[in-house]
Amino acid sequence: ATNRDQDRAAEARGDLPELGSSVIPALPGAFANTPDTDMSTAVNQAWAAGIIHRVRTSRLGIDEIEAAHVSTHDGVDAVYTRALAAQKEWAARGSSERTEAVRRVARVFAAHRADLLEVMASETGKVLEQGDAEISEAMDFALYYAEQAEMLEELEDAVLTPRALTLVTPPWNFPVAIPTGGVLSALVTGSAVVMKPAPQAKRCGALIGKLIHEAGIPEDLVQIVDVPEDEVGKALITDPRVDQLVLTGAYDTAAMFASWRPELPIKAETSGKNAIIVSPHADLDLAAKDVAMSAFGHAGQKCSAASLVITVGSVARSRRFSSQLADAVMSLHVGYPTDPTAQMGPVIEKPEGKLADGLHTLGDGERWLAQPQMLDDSGLLWSPGVREGVKEGSEYHLTEYFGPILGIVNADTLEEATAIQNGTAYGLTAGLHSLHDGEIAWWTQHVEAGNLYVNRGITGAIVERQAFGGWKRSAIGETSKAGGPNYLVHLMDASDVVGRR
Ligand code: GLU
Repeated sequence: ATNRDQDRAAEARGDLPELGSSVIPALPGAFANTPDTDMSTAVNQAWAAGIIHRVRTSRLGIDEIEAAHVSTHDGVDAVYTRALAAQKEWAARGSSERTEAVRRVARVFAAHRADLLEVMASETGKVLEQGDAEISEAMDFALYYAEQAEMLEELEDAVLTPRALTLVTPPWNFPVAIPTGGVLSALVTGSAVVMKPAPQAKRCGALIGKLIHEAGIPEDLVQIVDVPEDEVGKALITDPRVDQLVLTGAYDTAAMFASWRPELPIKAETSGKNAIIVSPHADLDLAAKDVAMSAFGHAGQKCSAASLVITVGSVARSRRFSSQLADAVMSLHVGYPTDPTAQMGPVIEKPEGKLADGLHTLGDGERWLAQPQMLDDSGLLWSPGVREGVKEGSEYHLTEYFGPILGIVNADTLEEATAIQNGTAYGLTAGLHSLHDGEIAWWTQHVEAGNLYVNRGITGAIVERQAFGGWKRSAIGETSKAGGPNYLVHLMDASDVVGRR
């Protein structure tokens, strides 16, 4: 049998695909994260080549997977009526039945890893290696939230009641992990879920739904709906039967949704304008590499991405770091997911508005260290852009562009650099490169952001090890973090009882 046949056989059995040697054995009672596919082995490279072939030729027919199109108010009404009927049955089942079903989703995802990668690559342009990590994260969400639900069951004094109907509106940039985490977290608490994928990632959403159903979760209980972005979309939120909204997206969108239903519990992970500080005590080689990957992974289209680097003191004064950074950035390989060596893929749509400004226009005193270039006629493939001379308080300092651009700001001291880092409306991720213990200790006390990274890149939070979520305008509503211990409690209503018989 060829490697591919062996993989197919393993997939048919529902085994995890061939996964390299990076598996960390679980300590008794400890949560074990799902490993990514080890792309250094020949077997897995052949497997990836097969996926690329399918992306090129669309062999799987994933095009045929469609989210249910709901285009009228009556359609919304029918979706919610079915969901609520299914929820009654779901809540009546024992909690172990619910956690088992959610765990099965992880196994189904493992068996369909290739299909998920194919649809992510062809629909959203995500390069395989980054898509692969996202599938691991989705599986982690399933396993972790199942475990958390079991822990909640054991709490003796808590009276926790599921909210019957949860609406999940995920983004397109993590089109598998974020929707899966949103759906399964609410589901495992006993809620029914309606999920509306981002318009740019409908097929990813539809495939997720199909796999969740394949794991034995009833179709009415988790419904994936595609609604036009107008009054019907609004009706999805304003319908009083919806008990809560789980959202990841731009701050302004979340704020608008919140204004439609001020009483609705909302859990929103929103925008970021994230910076990495490079201190004179940093390992500059490491810093240049980490800044480049944090800024340009997935073409900068992550809420967690670095779009500012703040150089301190001698790092700001000499050209050494900026020329190393320019080298690191220029050596990134830009290409479509069909190119197995691509590190940075296309942007989701032809840049317009803010992102187009960021790619074309310099602010006062700014100059290009690396000018972004459009690499083909599609308008989607861009070389990374780096601007120097960004001033504190400038348009570039304060704006989230959500694309492949990075700006360098100079500061005299770590205190000043941290003030610049904290000086935006957001507080999602933040980084410091310094080998000085005193600086690290001071910075972690003074930086204002939810996810902090020392001497490493600032993207890629891992379920259970580092819950993900931010401060200020990086979140709205319940701010407990995804993949962390308090997440499920905040999807439920709690009662506190006193008195005795
Ligand atoms: N959780 C992702 C990370 O840590 C970012 C998610 C997002 O961009 O919304 O990189």
